[in-house]
Amino acid sequence: MKLLSTQRQFSDYPDKLELERSIHLDFILGRLDGLSRWKTGLHTTRPFLTFWLCNSLAMLDQLAPVIKTRVLDSLKAWHLPGGGFATTFSPHAASIYSSMNCLALCACSPKDFEYFDSKALYRVLEELHNPDGSFRSEIDGETDPRITYCCVISAYLAGIDVTVDPLFSKTHEYIKSCQTYEGGFTTRRGGEAHAGYTYCSIATLSLLQKLECIDITRLSFWLVQRQMDIEGGFNGRTHKLVDGCYSFWVGASHSLLSKFFVKQAHDDIVKHSSESSSMSEGSDGAELPMSVPCMSFDPDKPFYSIPAFSGDMLIAQERVQEYILVCCQGSNGGLRDKPPKYPDEYHTCYCLSGLSLTQHGSGTVKFDDGETIKAEEVILGDPSNRLQEIDPIFNIPIGCAEKLHRMMQKR
Ligand SMILES: [Zn+2]
Repeated sequence: MKLLSTQRQFSDYPDKLELERSIHLDFILGRLDGLSRWKTGLHTTRPFLTFWLCNSLAMLDQLAPVIKTRVLDSLKAWHLPGGGFATTFSPHAASIYSSMNCLALCACSPKDFEYFDSKALYRVLEELHNPDGSFRSEIDGETDPRITYCCVISAYLAGIDVTVDPLFSKTHEYIKSCQTYEGGFTTRRGGEAHAGYTYCSIATLSLLQKLECIDITRLSFWLVQRQMDIEGGFNGRTHKLVDGCYSFWVGASHSLLSKFFVKQAHDDIVKHSSESSSMSEGSDGAELPMSVPCMSFDPDKPFYSIPAFSGDMLIAQERVQEYILVCCQGSNGGLRDKPPKYPDEYHTCYCLSGLSLTQHGSGTVKFDDGETIKAEEVILGDPSNRLQEIDPIFNIPIGCAEKLHRMMQKR
């Protein structure tokens, strides 16, 4: 069952809906060139701007070796002797996170980051750590799920096993305390649920393998309500307007939720199989367990291939893509919040990320036993609209994070 139906006939559009790759590529390359000149006033945001632009290129399959080399040179310049990255004198969680993601996008071998000091980064994270399991942005900085997410992701990319390291043993308890009565997540007890904090909370728990510690039912309900009935895109809070960037913040949350459900179903099937095989003859007719909301499955078919609707998210994936393709593409390239706003680096990255996520759904899911499955793809409009699949935990193409994690561990 889809909780929101596809209300508009896509065949109503006279021409195919198309992602205008060439003008977006020109926009991204132009902004990347401009980083070393007219954006000097926004110096502290350069790691984030670089990440957004590089990730946009990667999703379009256009991250060329010459650009990777330039980015790797910048990262080396931003690395601090005391650990972490910053374009100022002291490390900041956001700069570290965006730089580590750039490294995951651009590094091909350990030679590309010989200068990087993992132990020094760990010491920085220890200094930013709070007793309740959360992290601060800098020594006297703020604490919230976004900052905590940045620190946990950075640690993983630096080769640290965050599922067993004691520095992260209480982090899931802090995140759990930020879930509101609505089901989404906020910055502190009593605050309003917001899609940005919600994504950071779910992604952190997914990486820590602790997603089951929160109220999944309330979270699912709140996330489904973020899809706008008329526009098709998402808002970030109750009673707020649609915005293209929430295609990522909400879309990635749905993708993580779908992965969680697929894993649950797989575990139930494995458990049922082992129980059945140990039972006496005549018990073969036992029913398969049902733990995936909104799904019923035929034991003879793969459980992720449900013909009643396309994709495996709890929302209408095609309608999010429709909002991005129809409303968020700037006429001179780049993507935006909504008409008549102008495109920028942030919305270009997060609209493309949302487009990719709703095309791939739960995407590639790897189980503990090593088996891997891939969800059915849902591509609205021209087949060339298909983007590289991204990992919703990191917001970079699938496999990049694990590759850097392994390279860091082997050094
Ligand atoms: Zn926005």
